[in-house]
Amino acid sequence: MDILRGFKDILPQEMRKWQKLEKIARETLELFGYKEIRTPILEKTTLFSRGVGETTDIVEKEMYTFLDKSGESITLRPEGTAGAVRAYISNHLENYPFKKFYYIGPMFRYEKPQKGRLRQFHQIGIEVFGVQDPSVDAEVVYVDKIMLDKLGLTDLRIEVNNIGCPNCRPKYMKSLKNYFEKYREELCDDCKNRLNRNPLRILDCKNKTCRNIASNAPKIHEFVCDNCKTHYEAVKENLSKINVEFEENPHLVRGLDYYTKFVFEIITDKLGAQGTVSAGGRYDNLVEELGGKPTCGIGFASGCERLIELIDLGDNQSIDYYFACLEDYTTCLKLAKELADKLNKTTYIEYENRSLKSMMKKADKMNANFVVIYGKNEKEKGIVIVKDMKKSTQKEVKIEKFLENEVEKWQ
Ligand SMILES: [Zn+2]
Ligand SMILES: [Zn+2]
Repeated sequence: MDILRGFKDILPQEMRKWQKLEKIARETLELFGYKEIRTPILEKTTLFSRGVGETTDIVEKEMYTFLDKSGESITLRPEGTAGAVRAYISNHLENYPFKKFYYIGPMFRYEKPQKGRLRQFHQIGIEVFGVQDPSVDAEVVYVDKIMLDKLGLTDLRIEVNNIGCPNCRPKYMKSLKNYFEKYREELCDDCKNRLNRNPLRILDCKNKTCRNIASNAPKIHEFVCDNCKTHYEAVKENLSKINVEFEENPHLVRGLDYYTKFVFEIITDKLGAQGTVSAGGRYDNLVEELGGKPTCGIGFASGCERLIELIDLGDNQSIDYYFACLEDYTTCLKLAKELADKLNKTTYIEYENRSLKSMMKKADKMNANFVVIYGKNEKEKGIVIVKDMKKSTQKEVKIEKFLENEVEKWQ
């Protein structure tokens, strides 16, 4: 039986990286007062068409949308923010003292599968509600960067841009449209379509010709209103004050319609073209657009699969005790239980009937610190042999003295 195209099993070999990623992310975000929220994977389709935007690639072509048995149109979430905003509204979280949230979980987009891009992928993200002050924009970038630093990622670059607001963006869109209209015939088919529906999207087209044309397109800075300008300048100032380095990228527009004023990406050059590991920005109108009271918001989302590629665990998998059991598994199980209960040590009891030699090989592959050998001879003498794999020494230990002996070792 084949797995679905664009989907992937996460196997135990890779799982330690995921556990590390999730642990460090949780610890870091909790450190700054963010609280975890888990929203459903399925939501009403309208949440995303209204939230993410009708003219975005996500809503136009990439959503897993279908009718449930009652005929309602539902969608597997393609991103985390719309669901978090919906949860904020429907649970009246404006009354909850913490206004900073984070989530970790799977997202679904029907995209062309390629290296570094899956149809089920995972994101870690945060959302902050109700803070207008530009210093929170800097906090969000800072928290994102700290999380990536703690994961051991290096050579990261932060790009920022001002994306305007519903007051000033229409003027910019108009000027973009006029500009791209001159090159209509050279644009890719997608962009010809975008030209009518949302010319902003042309700025992040990956097509080479489109990119070349876009490089001379009008810049949003010439069009933003005073409010957007003041906010953006203050964010940059705040970032500088807390020593977060960044570059301005006037073509950074993000693929979602809800962003306003400040947007950013954190990029690595180590993954080729798919270099964005985190991205986010402010969405000051989304809560209201989804039916809540006017409440501003800001957040980021990080692509877990890309982070996993960059995490270096250094050491391999390991186990504290490997039980090379040739006789009477119950005795070994009792000893393993004591190690877990009293010493909090990891153990692996071998139940496959192997020769001692092949078990020693396996213990080596597992990076076992100690091997406990229990065979016919040992059983008759009421002992186990404890082999120290790092020192290459071994010792006979009476079964009733086993725990005592091991406790001493770890002190
Ligand atoms: Zn504006
Ligand atoms: Zn294009």
